Amino acid sequence: MFVPRRGLQRIPSLATCMTPAGGVKRGRPMRSALLSSVLTAALASAAPLPGVLELKAAADQLVPTPITADLGGMPASERKALARLLQAARVMDPLFLRQSWAGSEAWLVKLARDTTPLGQARLRLFLLNQGPWDRLAHYAPFLPGVPPKPASGNFYPAGATKEDVSRWLSTLSPEERARASSFFTTIRRGPNGAFTIVPYSLEYQGELARAAGLLREAAGSTEQPALRSFLEKRAAALLNDDYAESDVAWMQLDTSIDPTFGPYETYEDEWFNQKAAFEAFITVVDAKETEKLKRFSSQLQALENALPMEDRYRNPKIGALAPIRVVNSVFAAGDANRGVQTAAYNLPNDERTVAAHGSKRVLLRNMDLAKFEKTLVPIAKIAIAPDLVRSVQFDPFFTQILMHELMHGIGPQRIVVNGRESTPRAELQEVSSTIEECKADVVGIWAMQRLVSQGQL
Ligand SMILES: [Zn+2]
Repeated sequence: MFVPRRGLQRIPSLATCMTPAGGVKRGRPMRSALLSSVLTAALASAAPLPGVLELKAAADQLVPTPITADLGGMPASERKALARLLQAARVMDPLFLRQSWAGSEAWLVKLARDTTPLGQARLRLFLLNQGPWDRLAHYAPFLPGVPPKPASGNFYPAGATKEDVSRWLSTLSPEERARASSFFTTIRRGPNGAFTIVPYSLEYQGELARAAGLLREAAGSTEQPALRSFLEKRAAALLNDDYAESDVAWMQLDTSIDPTFGPYETYEDEWFNQKAAFEAFITVVDAKETEKLKRFSSQLQALENALPMEDRYRNPKIGALAPIRVVNSVFAAGDANRGVQTAAYNLPNDERTVAAHGSKRVLLRNMDLAKFEKTLVPIAKIAIAPDLVRSVQFDPFFTQILMHELMHGIGPQRIVVNGRESTPRAELQEVSSTIEECKADVVGIWAMQRLVSQGQL
């Protein structure tokens, strides 16, 4: 999943969904980290801690790139809404920092006050990675005293193991287990030391109240009814943890501004791939490019029907909503702005919503152009014969990203295991993101071959 925002973006490697460690999510943003393994190994072995030069080399793997979007012709009402959305998006940064590790916020404050060359180099890499681990070097820590990146993020009680939590989950009633396994709860210790379930609306109460207020101000400014409806519903969801209705409103957006805002990706929860991290992509729609891709939405049922898998996994009626939006990113924050930037994403991740309504694909065109120019072409010039380089074109690259995202929305969503209703995510746990990304890549190639042979691509 997912570069733009902030004027200068850092574009690394080839992109295809996958937030490197998690990319196109299930909502997977397509990101890709095609790294030099030599460099990675060098950094990883540069222990104990990198100095100024090593920190700079690590940061320079990401190429600063101007990212622009055309806001000309946007009326004052929408510009005002956009400004409020950017303010709301900024609230996602501290939330994401806290969700990925309990110690990150204190480190950020400390680094921000450190004016030495070493302190500034550390701060730069910290901001690029949204934490004290180099995401392009197998999460090597680059600050003193920092532990390995916790696989549990900051979603589970300190000191607990995955086995402790699994055992506790097995003692819960089906209803309580569903709450404990929700995308939108953390697990903490109660006053007696026992595990307890805390909804996001309580855990992150202060920030979410501020974000909801700003979303409502944006809703009050826009003159686009669908955008107003989504923003009001999403603001309510931040405060009551019920995201389903606003997910549907998000899929129905047909507006010039297309914000993605809230807890979505589960990559930071490497125990269960279940807890959603906060992010925001504030984007403006490229209507012309969106129109060109419309026809692909109608192909999904035929592709689902033809998937090379057993019939019992097939969905005879996939969700009716399958919008594809080509957008230009204006700003991104939180999980959407760490490490390798997102190329595209498919959301929501909630299997119930996907099964009932479908999912939406968002392709970040200005980011993808930057990735193409700054990484794909330079790599092609090194990796393939000179007379083939001219065949490396943006449109096929973009189509491949599109196919990857489309494939996230088909295939098994809800399954039955030993008579019990479940999801591939719940069964595959910590490997579910990786397998889902592999599925999207492989099935995407399968779909492209099929559409080409049918003369549709
Ligand atoms: Zn993906």
